Amino acid sequence: IRVQTSLSNVEQIINKIRLFLLIAGLWGLGVLIVISGVATHFLTRTLRSLAKRVSRFGSKNSLSHDEISDLSLSFDNIKKDLTETLTSLSRERDRFETVLEGMVEAVFALDDQGRVTLVNQAVAELLEEPDLVIGRNFKDVIGGPEIAELVDNAIAGGEGTKQFDLTASPKKIRVLARVSALKSGGCVAVLHDISDIHRLEEMRREFVANVSHELRTPVSVIMANAETLLDEGACDSTKPHPLMDALHRNAKRLTETISELLALSRLDAGAYITDMQMLHLESEIVNHVEAVRLASKRTKQINIEVSPDLQIVADKHALSRIISNIISNAVKYTSFDSDIVVRAQRQKDLVIIEVEDNGPGIAPQHHELIFDRFHRAVKSSDQTIGGTGLGLAIVSSYLEVMNGHITLKSAKPKGAIFTIVLPAFPMGK
Ligand code: ADP
Repeated sequence: IRVQTSLSNVEQIINKIRLFLLIAGLWGLGVLIVISGVATHFLTRTLRSLAKRVSRFGSKNSLSHDEISDLSLSFDNIKKDLTETLTSLSRERDRFETVLEGMVEAVFALDDQGRVTLVNQAVAELLEEPDLVIGRNFKDVIGGPEIAELVDNAIAGGEGTKQFDLTASPKKIRVLARVSALKSGGCVAVLHDISDIHRLEEMRREFVANVSHELRTPVSVIMANAETLLDEGACDSTKPHPLMDALHRNAKRLTETISELLALSRLDAGAYITDMQMLHLESEIVNHVEAVRLASKRTKQINIEVSPDLQIVADKHALSRIISNIISNAVKYTSFDSDIVVRAQRQKDLVIIEVEDNGPGIAPQHHELIFDRFHRAVKSSDQTIGGTGLGLAIVSSYLEVMNGHITLKSAKPKGAIFTIVLPAFPMGK
């Protein structure tokens, strides 16, 4: 079979196909251009926002229209910033390590469970096996109730200081421990070896006790002789001879100082045994106020504001030394027309006794030191008011044996307020 057609038909079909292919190609190109345009737009937007964020992170603000170079510039800035931060951090760390290792005090960093996470070299001076400390419970490492109390208190967010003998060491070491909470959790314990200071302090106490003891007999003989001479009127006159009078006055003062030093030595040595008993506070205070009034020969207005049914469990001798010392000081250091008020009240498990006067008061710079031995706020050259500067130290020591304390503040507009705080029932009754 022979089929025949004209070539012009074939060429027409080929031309149609070519046209179709051309149109399809152009259309495809157009779609491609649109899609790539949209894709580029989105990519550029993402890059811009990334560059912006990175640049903000790198804290530089130099965006140009070239996103890729912005990005690389921002990465450069970040790198520079990070290098600077790392350098300053490592400098800080070096400084911290130098200080930590240069400290003579043993330092322990603890986590919030009280386990040791870091120590310094000085720990080796206190403990036999300092390398085995990391990871262990600090209370077990040091031992004793004092450190347990300090750590519990610090983990709860507080801080505290205590002195105790270190049982964890074979040597006889006395330490002063301070444990404080860290803001980031856990706490830091700093242990200072105070064995030498403690030994010297003990020697000083022993020396003072021995000297006072040795002086007591000769001074009491001088005192007795001076009294006899004064009583017998050895000076043949109704008025005592000034020398006799001075001898008697000074012997009396020396006797007082010695007996106060001996009282302090007994308290320091823990030799004072308390005899706790239920006391009626108002009658105790009234008795002391009367005794002070009689002894001072100065008529003073002393008001007592104490509830008649207020009871306290305390050592009678210690309480009487405390009350009479504070009241006699209020009489001694104020003028004749000054007012003195003695208040006492119960606050939960505590009894608060306040002695307030409107005399000259005590300057704030003396407030912290006034309970130290021999500290006087009046000039020692002022002979008109006698005193040893030991009274308040004895008061503070007597309060310590009864788990109490004393504070001083200024009264308004003038005067002093001594506040004595004592547990109402120290034996848990
Ligand atoms: P003393 O009275 O023997 O000097 P104290 O220890 O009792 O020793 O008192 C210490 C110092 O405190 C006194 O020397 C005095 O300067 C000051 N002082 C105590 N009580 C008062 C008071 N109520 N008003 C002013 N000063 C006082």
